[in-house]
Amino acid sequence: MSSAISFKQVSKTFPPDVQALKSIDLTVAEGEFLVVVGPSGCGKSTLLRLVAGLENQTHGSIDIFGKDSVQLAPQERNLGMVFQNYALFPHLSVFENMAYGLKVRRESAPEIRKKVEGIAQKLEILEFLRRKPNQLSGGQRQRVALGRLLVRDPKIHLFDEPLGNLDPQFRAGMRSELARLHRENPRSSIYVTHDQAEAMTLGQRICVLCKGEVLQVGTPEEIYDLPSHRFVAEFFGSPGVNCIDGKIVKKEGEPTEFRSGSIQIPLPNHDMPAGSITLGIRPENWTLSAPENGVITGVIERVENLGDHRLIQTSIDDLNIFIKTTKSDIKEKEAVSISPQWEKSHWFERYTGKRI
Ligand code: ATP
Repeated sequence: MSSAISFKQVSKTFPPDVQALKSIDLTVAEGEFLVVVGPSGCGKSTLLRLVAGLENQTHGSIDIFGKDSVQLAPQERNLGMVFQNYALFPHLSVFENMAYGLKVRRESAPEIRKKVEGIAQKLEILEFLRRKPNQLSGGQRQRVALGRLLVRDPKIHLFDEPLGNLDPQFRAGMRSELARLHRENPRSSIYVTHDQAEAMTLGQRICVLCKGEVLQVGTPEEIYDLPSHRFVAEFFGSPGVNCIDGKIVKKEGEPTEFRSGSIQIPLPNHDMPAGSITLGIRPENWTLSAPENGVITGVIERVENLGDHRLIQTSIDDLNIFIKTTKSDIKEKEAVSISPQWEKSHWFERYTGKRI
């Protein structure tokens, strides 16, 4: 697949010295839905605004369908954007909002009506075409904003936290609708969010940004199963990976051990180098057992019943470890023993956070 958008060593500094993006290398394939995710202030919107031409990079280059973006004015980039705050014209009806881009392109009135009504039907907003945006709910307004993009059908679709203002129940529905729309009409898309669940469910690939740097780009499975960095491991999942800082100890004639405070676990893998390290285990990758049988013993501080499973918070020394289990006979303040499922463990360099 050829690339639609390609960032090469792109940096952006805002005066006087805010480094919003640092040496970004990133490619969006033609027709791909890429989600850019990261915490507040990591540079997500800046990345999108560079593609849209609303900002210029300080260093590096961005190619859009093979052309250097500095040679393309924003209106020549053939892209559309959906924002969190909808950005609809308040004085225009829903129809006029959706038709706006087509009118600018001087399409004929019958053609415009056909396109607007077709998309409005798909988005189930046909009955609102005569209303003004302030006569609609947040979810309906977001559909209008999406509809406005879809009727123009630009080659690149940019989304800046479009579901951020919607209540959680409504978001799940919109998520699957966005995924369906992309399947039906696969345009090259960048979707920005700080919500890891949204990234996992929507992205064909996910780019994780942290402090202006790309930490990992991969499919949702790669990001979840093989996080390249402790930050990625802790960011994805609900809750994320439990990280335990400790060290690997090797002694002649004894099994290699992982130690952290009172925790001492013999390791099945003797190849681990001695020294400081961080062990990461997802909440669903612990095995619970009777207090004498596991390798770590702690006290159950809290049990949350989430219907199909329970989320247990245990305290071991001053560590909190979260465990997901389908067992129901779990009681707060009781002792519990847990063992990591080693084949699903993650190891990170203690001081850089990089995966080993
Ligand atoms: P959020 O999720 O909160 O919207 P974000 O990941 O989209 O955050 P950006 O809006 O891209 O982050 O901002 C990245 C960094 O650049 C932040 O530190 C922000 O304060 C800074 N920044 C963004 N725009 C400007 C600007 N016009 N002038 C100065 N600093 C800016």
